[in-house]
Parts: sequence; structure tokens; C-alpha cells
Amino acid sequence: MTTSSTVYASHYINGQWVKAQSPETLPVYDSSTEALMATVPAGTAAEAEAAVLAARSAFEAWSTLPVETRAAYLDKVAAGIKARSEELALAIAREVGMPLKMARAVQVGGPAWHWGNFAKVARNFEWEKKVGNSLVVREPIGVVGCITPWNFPLSQITLKIAPALVAGCTVVLKPSEIAPVNAMMLAQIIHEAGLPPGVFNLVNGLGPVVGEVLATHPEVDMLSFTGSTRAGKRVSELASQSVKRVALELGGKSASVILDDANLEAAVKGTVSACMLNSGQTCSAHTRMLVPASRYNEARALAQAAIAKFSIGPSLDESSKLGPLVSSAQRDRVLGFIRTGIEEGADVIAGGAEAPAMASGYFVQPTILGIKASDTLAQEEIFGPVLVVIAYQDEDEAVRIANSTIYGLGGAVWSGSDEHALKVARRLRTGQVDINGGPFNGNAPFGGYKQSGNGRENGVYGFEEFLEFKALQFKPSPA
Ligand code: NAD
Repeated sequence: MTTSSTVYASHYINGQWVKAQSPETLPVYDSSTEALMATVPAGTAAEAEAAVLAARSAFEAWSTLPVETRAAYLDKVAAGIKARSEELALAIAREVGMPLKMARAVQVGGPAWHWGNFAKVARNFEWEKKVGNSLVVREPIGVVGCITPWNFPLSQITLKIAPALVAGCTVVLKPSEIAPVNAMMLAQIIHEAGLPPGVFNLVNGLGPVVGEVLATHPEVDMLSFTGSTRAGKRVSELASQSVKRVALELGGKSASVILDDANLEAAVKGTVSACMLNSGQTCSAHTRMLVPASRYNEARALAQAAIAKFSIGPSLDESSKLGPLVSSAQRDRVLGFIRTGIEEGADVIAGGAEAPAMASGYFVQPTILGIKASDTLAQEEIFGPVLVVIAYQDEDEAVRIANSTIYGLGGAVWSGSDEHALKVARRLRTGQVDINGGPFNGNAPFGGYKQSGNGRENGVYGFEEFLEFKALQFKPSPA
């Protein structure tokens, strides 16, 4: 493992590494050591524009290739990711802070699988269908601007560009400025896979500079955005000027509803794990645990026992269960939320705002707070290792609390019977609900209700986002 800092001096535009125009760079820090691990160029509006025009020029030829040819490119990229999986996992463990063991599976294994899966989805897709005297065909939407966050960086990039490319779209990616190293490696892999120039482009940089060009440019037909609800609103406003399609994958404040007939130990353990994944920096993390008031004390003790297993440590230490947060800014934001919770009278079940005893790194103690449904922490997305526990009186109140935020991304219901859980799950205004610990399914639609967004990712649902409909009418032949 190298601890020296890597200097990336180029963007990837029109099939080439193009030296950055501006001397300005953006630093990337190792979340566990706080050392500088890389710099990437701060892209300019002109570079973003050049990438958009390259994608536009490449569109016609790429979109008219046989689906099988495009799918075969995706298979090559999947193989390229697998070949460099350890290097990618190390980079993401350092730039994001997720423990390496987990980063291998979740941050790299997942994306490699999705590249291959989207190739299969496109091969099996029904591209046209007769409807009366019409032939309804599906066509790629065009040039897609992709803007991604830092928390599962390679996954979020993959879930946009793999389906867009195989659909026949060309893309310009602006990865997160906080964790861009994996994106640079992916661009190298895509280059080696031999995609035609202009089909995939990457410009590093800041949202308000590079990202806003993608949101506003009339030659961008669709903007696919994953990030905060705040930035999602901003890009939607900008994109409305050119009436482009906007797919938004935004924040969350998902509830784990534990019903009174649930196996409490399994439910609490499952909820704590689903909250703490990636140190709570997961958009669909189950960050609110709703428990029957009569079982609050029991749940409290079980939560303390479950959290004790989440030992914090540097991401490259194989024994770490929980890494640091991504940055000092994120750590300070999360500590601010913990302090607010305590000021508002939270029952501190575990953790707190005191710094853990670590030599370096953006660490926060895994924290569990018992709060009221009216408290600030019942509403705000914290994006750190903080679980709130809220007591409810009856099932109707549990559903009301679960549905009472601006978000609706993930969630869970725990019950002694799947049937009972399903009944409650159907009442939740959210895009996904895990029933009694049901695992993630990469082919099931993932996306939000309400201010968690309007897009869907994964499998055929994520693929269709990048397609248009065209209806071709034929004159019916005389009987
Ligand atoms: P962020 O909104 O700060 O940044 C996300 C991306 O948007 C970055 O690339 C950033 O540079 C860019 N951006 C910021 N301002 C912009 C602007 N004005 N114009 C264009 N682009 C702009 O979010 P973040 O801190 O990187 O990520 C955390 C957030 O992302 C959380 O709210 C989390 O819930 C959300 N998220 C959602 C999903 C999902 O699938 N729903 C997945 C992961 C993360």
C-alpha cells in the first residue's frame, strides 16, 4: 500500500486524458490518517462544455450500435473492475473511510456485479412492441450528465453510467470532489475497454462550476443526480430552463418500525447494523428505530449490547468494524447534531459528542439517542453513526411517525409474522422496505418518495430511466 499522494492532472474528454486548463486542484484526504492522498484538477466550465460536446458528437454512432456490442463493452468494464478490485477497495477505504473488508464487498464487488447485470438487462430487454397500429420503440434519451456523491462513490457512478451507456446514451460524469480517486481508476478501466471516443467523459470539479454546466447545458438531454436534497433542488431549478429529464436520488431518514410481536433482539440488532453501515453515511440507512413504548427499556438494553460490537478503527485495519467519517466537515456536522439532541433532552443510550481516543482520523463515537418524535433529530438527515430511538403507543402512531419526515427512501418493518409486517409496510410512504431483515436486491427498484427524489436505480428499472418512447403509426391494411 502506498501512502504517498497521487497527483491527477487531467480530465478524460473525447477518449483522451486532457491536461487540465486551470492550475487549481482539489485535495483528497485519507479519512483515517488525515494525510493528503491525492489531488484532482478543479475543472472549469469550458472543460465541462468540451466534454458535453464530445458526448454529443459521439451519440449518433454509439446509439445505433447493436445492443450486443454495447453490452460486450460493459462486460469488459466489469472484468476490468474485478482485475483492479483490491486497488479500488484500498482507494475507497482511504478516501471514504469504510473498513477495507467491507469496502471490498460493498464498494467494489457490488459495482462489478452491476456492470455485468446491466449488460444482461439490455440483452433481455423488449426494445419494441406492437400496440394496435403503432410500433412503440424504446430509444436512448441522448447525452446524460451524471453527478455523484462520495459515500458509495463507485456504486453511485455505476448505477448511472452503466445503464446509460448500454441504453445507447453518451455520458459526462462529474464525480464527488471529496472521493474522486475511484472515478479516475474507473475512467482508466473504461479507456482500456476501448469504448469509442466521446462515449464516456469525466470532468472533475466543484458542483457549482462543473455540475451546473451539466445541469444547464442545452446539449445535455438528461441529468442524473445523486446527492443531498439541497443540491438536488438547485440542479432541478437549473435543468428546468432546458426542460431536460432530471432523475434525483436524494437524502433519507428511514424508519425501522419494530412491531410489538417482533423478535426484539433480532430487530434491534438488525436496525443497529443497518444504521451503522459505512458509519451511517448511507442514504437509505435505518436511522430511526421506532419501538413500542412498553418495550422501550428492553430495546434500550439490546441496543447498548448491539452497538458495543461496533469497534471503531482505521479503515485499513482488518479488525475495524466502523471507520471514520469521510471528512472533518462531516464529522463536525454530525457532532453538532449529537449536541443538539443532547441539548433537547435526549436519553443518551450509547456514545456521545466526546472525541474517541484515536491518534488521527475523522472519528465519531457510534451513538444512540432516545428522543421524542417532535425533536430536531427525528427530522434531520444526520449522515453519521447516530441512531435515534422513538417510542410509540400503537401501530397507527408508529406509521404516522415513520411517515412524518420530508424523506421516503428506505425503511424496515419487524414482526413475528411476515403478513403482519407486510400490512404495515404497505402503509409506509417510502421506496423500499426490508421485511424482517430481508437483504438488498440489486434488481429491485431503489429510489425515493417525497423529497428523497424521483428516480429509480437497479436492474431494468434503473435501465429504463435512460430511454425515451417513440410511437410509429402504420396505416392499417384494408380488411
Ligand atoms: P452533495 O449534494 O453535497 O454533493 C453531491 C454531488 O453534487 C457532488 O458531486 C457535488 O459536487 C455536486 N453538487 C453540489 N452542489 C451542486 C450544484 N449547485 N450544482 C451541481 N452539482 C452540485 O451531497 P454529498 O455530501 O456528496 O452526499 C451526501 C448526500 O447524498 C446525502 O444527503 C445522501 O443521503 C445523498 N445520497 C443519496 C443517495 C440515493 O441514492 N438516494 C445515495 C447516496 C447519497
